[in-house]
Amino acid sequence: EKLTAVVCGGGNAAHVMSGLAASRENVDIRVLDTFSDEAERWAKILENDEMVLTVNHPDGTHGEVKSKPHLITNDAKKACDGASIIIFAVPAFAHEGYFEAIAPYVKPNTTIVGCPGQPGFEFQCFHILKDIAPKCCVIAMEGLPWAARISQFGKAVTVLSTKEFLDGVIIPGSSNIKEPFASFQYLLGPKPVLKNYKNFLEPTLSTKSIMHPPIMYGIWNYWDGKPMDQKPLFYNGLTEEAADLMSGISDELIATAKAIKAKKPDVDISEVTHIFDWFKLIYKDEIADKSSLLTSLRTNSAYNGLVHPMKETEDGKFVPDFKFRYLSEDVPFGLVVLKGISEIAGVDTPMMDKVLAWSQKVLGKEYLVGNKLSGKDVATSRAPQRYGYKTLNDFDVLL
Ligand code: NAD
Repeated sequence: EKLTAVVCGGGNAAHVMSGLAASRENVDIRVLDTFSDEAERWAKILENDEMVLTVNHPDGTHGEVKSKPHLITNDAKKACDGASIIIFAVPAFAHEGYFEAIAPYVKPNTTIVGCPGQPGFEFQCFHILKDIAPKCCVIAMEGLPWAARISQFGKAVTVLSTKEFLDGVIIPGSSNIKEPFASFQYLLGPKPVLKNYKNFLEPTLSTKSIMHPPIMYGIWNYWDGKPMDQKPLFYNGLTEEAADLMSGISDELIATAKAIKAKKPDVDISEVTHIFDWFKLIYKDEIADKSSLLTSLRTNSAYNGLVHPMKETEDGKFVPDFKFRYLSEDVPFGLVVLKGISEIAGVDTPMMDKVLAWSQKVLGKEYLVGNKLSGKDVATSRAPQRYGYKTLNDFDVLL
């Protein structure tokens, strides 16, 4: 039987996901792109042409994949008709719009994948898809399988690198799907190999969304507001305070995991890891000095030369871009969600609160009031509180 899949999005990730998937045998791949006129433009570009994926291999060689999604549309009804798997391959801020678009058309036993899912994906999915979500298989992947850049919209994209492994979480629900990862793995190909966490709390409480906001805080909280001649280095220029805050937030998440375990002993959260331990493992060959989180981040060759997100002024100087995803995504779909879970678990989070209080100021938002997550903009975040979760038992539907 043909595998019918929908890829939601229109950026780097959606190009690679739909292109690779469409190159498999016996598939019907539809792109659902609701943003602006992208679907119309993309469909026109491929009317008499194929999409070209340039895939870089670790040995320095590269391959080429030519393919074409079978349908590119902004019409969710057409896209979802008969689909057995729906893959979100867009930044988290766009998830809500896609959930709303597909909600009337999702049938039981559909696999819904957030790739990446990012914190709060499950809460949002279950809220918007209501009764149908528990009958589906909801999967949230921890990251994107590739680093990728579009070189020509709709037509050409480069896969800079492909991960070896990718972790995700499968929300059990009551679907009839026997091997939840199977169709998704088939569409991706052999790499990355998909692996699963035991429940959504493990990846959420180990999330890498806690990296960018403290690093931004570490430098811009002390900025005098004057445009700069150069873009400061992001990781190489990391401040001691930023590393302490990042580490402290990770400690707070581990304390949250322990508090949850104390109240719900059946929930296995043994894979919640501290950010420092994760770094030492993932970048074991790239870090020159592993003595602390600070030195590990500053001396990681994979991060060499990366700079802060900046906007150029008219006279060629630079000011920080607080709208960049390091804050605009990693706060409402990262820190705010984590703060919400810690609050429900009854854990105080002074480190998170400090970074959140500053972040919300520069973002022009209100999530925290004092140290409580009760600001008006919680309503546009993915905090569990937004969706009515009040106690740890409310998480049971997802565990
Ligand atoms: P992207 O920047 O290419 O996404 C842009 C697309 O998002 C647009 O083409 C449009 O389809 C959609 N979009 C933009 N504004 C929108 C709006 N207001 N409403 C609805 N849709 C809108 O993003 P990407 O590179 O494809 O990344 C997707 C996710 O993967 C992100 O969370 C990113 O952080 C993560 N990620 C990307 C990479 C990478 O190499 N590209 C690597 C790791 C993780």
